[in-house]
Amino acid sequence: MLPYHTLEGAQVALGRGLTLAETIWFKYSANKPDFVLHCHNTLFLCLFYSIAPIPFVLMELSGYEKLNKHKIQPSVKRSFKEMFKCYKDVMETFVIAVSPLQIISYPTIKWIGIRTGLSLPSGWELFWQLFIYFVIEDFSNYWIHRMLHCKWAFEKIHKVHHEYVAPIGLSAPYAHWAEIIILGIPSFLGPALVPGHITTYWLWFILRQLEAIETHSGYDFPWSPTKYIPFYGGPAYHDYHHYVGGKSQSNFASVFTYCDYIYGTHKGYQYRKQMRKKNSTDTFIAQNYKMDG
Ligand SMILES: [Zn+2]
Ligand SMILES: [Zn+2]
Repeated sequence: MLPYHTLEGAQVALGRGLTLAETIWFKYSANKPDFVLHCHNTLFLCLFYSIAPIPFVLMELSGYEKLNKHKIQPSVKRSFKEMFKCYKDVMETFVIAVSPLQIISYPTIKWIGIRTGLSLPSGWELFWQLFIYFVIEDFSNYWIHRMLHCKWAFEKIHKVHHEYVAPIGLSAPYAHWAEIIILGIPSFLGPALVPGHITTYWLWFILRQLEAIETHSGYDFPWSPTKYIPFYGGPAYHDYHHYVGGKSQSNFASVFTYCDYIYGTHKGYQYRKQMRKKNSTDTFIAQNYKMDG
């Protein structure tokens, strides 16, 4: 809850006029306790999970040829029933395990110093904090994910996430409840080490969720804006990890590719890419030879 009762009071306290975004934030948050603002994160988790995968669900159901050619594993088709079951299972995990944990983490959020007041973060602060959160999450997630591939952890926990050999957008958070909680640690680590404004905190979790949904979508569009992000893994990269399954020792990273390159866990994927390139070149040569003949 903001310590000012009026816009004028906020302007006097800051010693300057408010930006449009700050005025909107003042009007929205002035009378809301910090706990209520904190609980928005749970609301966004369920909301964005319910909305963001819809285009991929529609693509899957349409079977439209022009879209189908961008499908990474085109032979696998999911029915509405299968996809709805995935949604229902994930929402159950969100309600039973994730939401209570997020809500009781409120004292920790206060303790690490996530702020709710004015001023709002500048565009530059927002960019750098989100960048740091992504890098910290990617690195720590990489190592936890690698550990989840040891025999015991895979059989007991991680196997559930790998039920989707050809992942779909809805299956991004489809995992054992213990995995969702364990992988919450890397997501929380960035804001804990570099605390910022609660709007940055919300945006971080929303962007991370959208990234995971795209990465699991099963579609690799050449025009996707994420193709312009340096070292970004993307759908084809993570799809390979699911395709290989439990024995996979390749493509562990959640967002970027650099960890897999540094620690040498990109080799399987690289080999497959080279083979595909070679096969398509062979096919091209064979077709041209036929034509020439
Ligand atoms: Zn895995
Ligand atoms: Zn996955």
